[in-house]
Amino acid sequence: MRLIAVTCMHNCSEQRSSISDGYIGALERAALTPVVIPPSLSPQASVRGLERMDGLLLSGGNDVAPLRYGQQPRPEIGALDVLRDEQEFALVKKAFDLGIPVFGICRGAQVLNVALGGTLIQHIHANGPEGIQHCQNGQSWQCHHHIEVKPGTMLASALGAGIVAVNSHHHQAVDKIAPGLTVSATAPDGLIEGIECADPWILGVQWHPEMMWQHHPEFLHLFEIFARACKGERP
Ligand code: MN
Repeated sequence: MRLIAVTCMHNCSEQRSSISDGYIGALERAALTPVVIPPSLSPQASVRGLERMDGLLLSGGNDVAPLRYGQQPRPEIGALDVLRDEQEFALVKKAFDLGIPVFGICRGAQVLNVALGGTLIQHIHANGPEGIQHCQNGQSWQCHHHIEVKPGTMLASALGAGIVAVNSHHHQAVDKIAPGLTVSATAPDGLIEGIECADPWILGVQWHPEMMWQHHPEFLHLFEIFARACKGERP
């Protein structure tokens, strides 16, 4: 049994944490056991708990505080959560110290990039003929835009190289990529949709596979390559 620490949403005003069922189901399908760690748990206790885990999944959520990547907040910045930032950045550092795999989804991919020294686009302005909408309406599992998966990447080992249709629920994106990470996928407007590193094992995707796998089962492959990494298999 492989235990996976899973971070989650946190509502400061209601003092309540929550996680979408899609993450839990996808991890179970990949024979992984999720252990959800709420941001109300201190960074110190969260990091101690990670010592018992085989992997870390950074789930989707609010914007990362721009001060984390050396910028002032732009007027379009969304809701921030200091507690969650503190917990997740401590967890990522500890995961690298422990050498356990990290899978980041949406905000999670952005947290990974910032933790390693990259920056974010604070708000996507989808203007001009090449502009693409990245905040879709309608069903959250529906494919909304294409990405191009680069051949030879870990992402390509899961989804195949070339054009893949994904959902899109983000108003921010990776800007300057962190040293050590490579771009594994881009949208037609040039936005980064996938980042990764083989050693230490890091996978980040800008879309939400946990919302898609019940209708598009190929997205379970992302959780399956994560599971293999958590079992010590290297790509
Ligand atoms: Mn997108």
